[in-house]
Amino acid sequence: MKLELPQIITQIDDDLHLCDEKSWQKDLREVITKPEQLLALLDIAPDEYLQHFKARSLFPVRVPMPFIKRMKKGDFDDPLLKQVMPLTNEFKQTEGYTLDPLQEHDTVAEGLLHKYNNRVLMIVKAGCAVNCRYCFRRHFPYEDNSPNKKRWQSALHYIAENSSISEVIFSGGDPLMASDEHLKWLVEQLEQIPHVTRLRIHTRLPVVIPNRVTKSLVTLLKNTRLKPVMVLHINHPNEIDSELISALEPLRAARIPLFNQSVLLKSVNDNAQTLIKLSETLFDAGIQPYYLHLFDAVQGAAHFDVSEQEAVEIANSMLANLPGFLMPKLVREIAGQANKTPINLA
Ligand code: SF4
Repeated sequence: MKLELPQIITQIDDDLHLCDEKSWQKDLREVITKPEQLLALLDIAPDEYLQHFKARSLFPVRVPMPFIKRMKKGDFDDPLLKQVMPLTNEFKQTEGYTLDPLQEHDTVAEGLLHKYNNRVLMIVKAGCAVNCRYCFRRHFPYEDNSPNKKRWQSALHYIAENSSISEVIFSGGDPLMASDEHLKWLVEQLEQIPHVTRLRIHTRLPVVIPNRVTKSLVTLLKNTRLKPVMVLHINHPNEIDSELISALEPLRAARIPLFNQSVLLKSVNDNAQTLIKLSETLFDAGIQPYYLHLFDAVQGAAHFDVSEQEAVEIANSMLANLPGFLMPKLVREIAGQANKTPINLA
């Protein structure tokens, strides 16, 4: 019997499941790193796609099995597959697209970016469980910003010295690539800095490996004196399945706000119908739609770009069909600006 989302949520209310760290680390060890393996798992004959495989040299392939299980077999145009499949297009040099579109390569301390007035972004862990081909950090020099407890000291010192900083954003890579023990240590250090009051975690990991929502992670976020917020990254409604909903339930039960940001991506979600369904499915899963980002002009991924004019048309169509609280803000990030820039829908 196929369960509808509200039924699934009711069912898991009675049966919260929480994993230990071994489960997600096993999923992480089993990520698919070869395009031929990926296509084989989807019953797609590789012959006509062989030319694309070499694009993995520009940005490695990494796709966890729980994410692959949500793709449609036999369909090279599956919107989830498109986000992770290397293509020859990535070799194309496009004018106006750069290696560092948000000019993030300049850190104020090792692994620390101070882009916004009262918030800092901490590169908690280099690398991600999934490598999204459109990622604006696909050229980020993680090797120079690969943190550990010793290296975090200068970042913590910078935060302690700047009393205007009230919010720390854990970023990466993906910050949840760090072990719960490391996260706990880091949260404890931040708790000792009185002016830091909020902790935001930007992550895609629970989306691609739902087992990442462990008992120790939930306990950490439940017990910290900092006000935690989790911002997920989901681009398409097909990314949300019962496994993900079930995994997020302990966070919802602990009253940790869950938000979502998406990127508007050509041939993945560049139509109002898909994005309306995404907002509705997010809401059913207890996640608040938050931002819809225009693509950041990173070199090697220009084929994902959607023009601002098309984006405005899509957003207006969403506005006409969604209640206001399900409408994500259409924004662009401009390097050097102290906040995201809302796009005028008029
Ligand atoms: S999870 Fe986020 S940071 Fe990692 S590759 Fe995807 S978009 Fe980039």
